[in-house]
Amino acid sequence: MNYFNYQGNELYCEDVPVARIAEEVGTPLYVYSASTIERHYRVFSEAFSEVDHLVCFSAKSNSNLAVLKLLGSMGAGADIVSGGELYRALQAGIPPDRIVFSGVGKRDDEIRYALDTGILMFNIESSEELQSVQGIAREMDLKAPIAVRVNPDVDPKTHPYISTGLEKNKFGVPVTEALTLYRQAADMPNLDVVGIDCHIGSQLTSVHPFGEAVRRIMDLVGRLEAEGISVRYVDVGGGLGIVYNNESPPLPSTYAETILEAVGGGERTLIFEPGRVIVGNAGVLVARVLYNKKGATKNFVIVDAAMNDLIRPSLYDAYQEIKPVTKTDREAIVVDVVGPVCESADFLARDHLLPRLGSGELLAVMSAGAYGFPMASQYNSRPRCAEVMVRDSRFEVVRDRETYQDLIRGERFFEG
Ligand SMILES: *Cc1c(COP(=O)(O)O)cnc(C)c1O
Repeated sequence: MNYFNYQGNELYCEDVPVARIAEEVGTPLYVYSASTIERHYRVFSEAFSEVDHLVCFSAKSNSNLAVLKLLGSMGAGADIVSGGELYRALQAGIPPDRIVFSGVGKRDDEIRYALDTGILMFNIESSEELQSVQGIAREMDLKAPIAVRVNPDVDPKTHPYISTGLEKNKFGVPVTEALTLYRQAADMPNLDVVGIDCHIGSQLTSVHPFGEAVRRIMDLVGRLEAEGISVRYVDVGGGLGIVYNNESPPLPSTYAETILEAVGGGERTLIFEPGRVIVGNAGVLVARVLYNKKGATKNFVIVDAAMNDLIRPSLYDAYQEIKPVTKTDREAIVVDVVGPVCESADFLARDHLLPRLGSGELLAVMSAGAYGFPMASQYNSRPRCAEVMVRDSRFEVVRDRETYQDLIRGERFFEG
């Protein structure tokens, strides 16, 4: 359920015609629906209302300050994977005691920053990281709250680039090694063992891998408790999938049933790190048609958005639905929607059936609210596009379109 719908022939975001935003702000441009983000957050969080829980929104899925602020004001925390994301979360007013820090490669300065801030916990992903955190916490004369990220070796049955809980992935540590790490951590004076964590992948469309992963980490919790190591937080990560095309991902309520059954009661606080399911269908990328071009075997619609604005189709071969911003009854033809970037991988859609759209007409790439703008680059020296947030009949630019000056910010001539 989201708030991008046609009224008559016009695509609206909430009560604002998308075309009106594009006229005022220009293209390409991301448009987010505040009501959709709120709705998705609420449905997710309410699915767990019977238990003590904290929803730490995955900041990497959409790190715009306006998005973080909106979620933070509803009670969300943040799952961060860098010092930069910590900075953003704090700037957006998310309290540090609602922030968890994941990621396999935390630098010393990032660890120090997070300790200084007083985050809820570090999700530790290796033995060397455990030593680092202990060392830095000792220097700072405080105790670092930690969880170990367990790699439960469960197949999430999703795209290989977004699987994270298989033995061969770089994330987390295997169950047996986790046991060793916990024993070591329990003996380290500047660590406070507070939790356990896993995150097995993204865009999961079945609940079974979640259930299996949680059963495996709860089994480990049992073994830890038998040794006198107790955990307060069970962080089950994110990964719940959304509808891009014809997937049928589980409802948050079904997901909740699976997780709660696998956790099996107890007084612990559950932590979730959803990203995509909160913001994925709360945003679209709006582009304008530049040219139509007939190749030898294909019809190309060349638009002003490109892989530097939205890389999911190129990187994951991901399908994203494309809709004309103004519906037309012109005949539909099979097209590739491509951008101006000089790479053959620069496409937003391949072999899509779309009504013929002429130069100057607008289209919307749907389901672009997660892993859209945060993955944008300036490749081909294309300034990154604007982002707009809509609520009801109002809209505001929440990130300015970059300028040519922004492109060279910080650069200087070599004086050699
Ligand atoms: C990316 C990521 C998430 C969010 O995944 P979604 O599929 O967007 O819900 C959560 N936790 C960690 C550790 C991640 O790396």
